[in-house]
Amino acid sequence: MPQTISAEVRALMRPSAAALEPYDPAFSRVEVNLSANENTYGMPAPAREATLAEIAAVAENRYPVPLADAVRAELAQVHGIAPERIAIGNGGDELLFNLFIAFGGAGRVLVNCPPTFSVYELYAGLAETPITNVPRDPETFEPDADALVEAARSANLVILTSPNNPTGDLVPLETVRRVCEACSGIVLLDEAYGEFSAPGASAESLLDTYANLAVLHTLSKAFCLAGGRIGYILASTDVVAALAAVRQPYSVSVFDQAAAVAVVRERALFMPTIAQIVQERARLSSRLAALEGVRVWPSESNFLLVRVPDAHRVWERLRDEHSILVRDFSRTPGLADCLRITVGTPEENDRVIAALSALM
Ligand SMILES: *Cc1c(COP(=O)(O)O)cnc(C)c1O
Repeated sequence: MPQTISAEVRALMRPSAAALEPYDPAFSRVEVNLSANENTYGMPAPAREATLAEIAAVAENRYPVPLADAVRAELAQVHGIAPERIAIGNGGDELLFNLFIAFGGAGRVLVNCPPTFSVYELYAGLAETPITNVPRDPETFEPDADALVEAARSANLVILTSPNNPTGDLVPLETVRRVCEACSGIVLLDEAYGEFSAPGASAESLLDTYANLAVLHTLSKAFCLAGGRIGYILASTDVVAALAAVRQPYSVSVFDQAAAVAVVRERALFMPTIAQIVQERARLSSRLAALEGVRVWPSESNFLLVRVPDAHRVWERLRDEHSILVRDFSRTPGLADCLRITVGTPEENDRVIAALSALM
């Protein structure tokens, strides 16, 4: 049942919150859920054992270590960066929220690049941060580098998503450089799907050059921990300290910290699955592109954006007749008739191919 807000309670809410509705991504009970860009393969068994063992050893009667030092130590090794340059959050979403608390607010400006992850606009609104939109190319979804650089000059915060959700494309590093140079505020590169991209695509290599650059990662996508809620930002020690200053002290539970330590330590175990998802992405993409009337955009991520005639109806029929759930973007500005399909297991992808072949 979707929750609703009565008119009486709405009248009591802050203006920036009163227009909102409870987040409800239309989850339905289906056999094949390819709607949320999770890793549908699940954890490899040895990684899951290590995770459960780490969780079993926690002291749940004690508060968590506020800045999740054990997780930072593991990630510092992986990224070759000082632990003081890593902020841990209750999912990447918490870090995005804290970014607005620390750097946004009334009279300050976010530069956003739609169509993109809707959470940025939501949090900007909650934190009463005005938005300058620099729209992507309506056909290719490429960001407009010159317009971004221009807008970045007067921005307090720029968010670029690479690969972008839901369009799947990367932001060229040259654009990242130019935006970092133009902007006196913070430039966040959201790389939630970076593990699925070609090597060398990450803006991480620019962190030592630009003190205003921050790079967001999550364990929710490639590393099978969407249910656990762990995200992290790599940035300067100052930006990390600013994020630490505004956060809720105990937002990352002992269970999540334990799981994150195990997953990061065992990250090599996830690589074969990540490689398989990338392979399946190519297969799913070419099979769907071969269907009459279907357009598929290139993707550096674990999902595909597709355009089909009468997409909302196709979305319903996938759900009701084939028990497959994908994400309907057909009502999002700039994404008419678009659906986003998470790349699943070979069996799940076969189901999608068969279903769309039948429906087209
Ligand atoms: C999934 C996602 C995130 C973060 O997800 P969490 O589960 O909160 O870590 C961040 N940015 C984008 C673009 C995403 O798609």
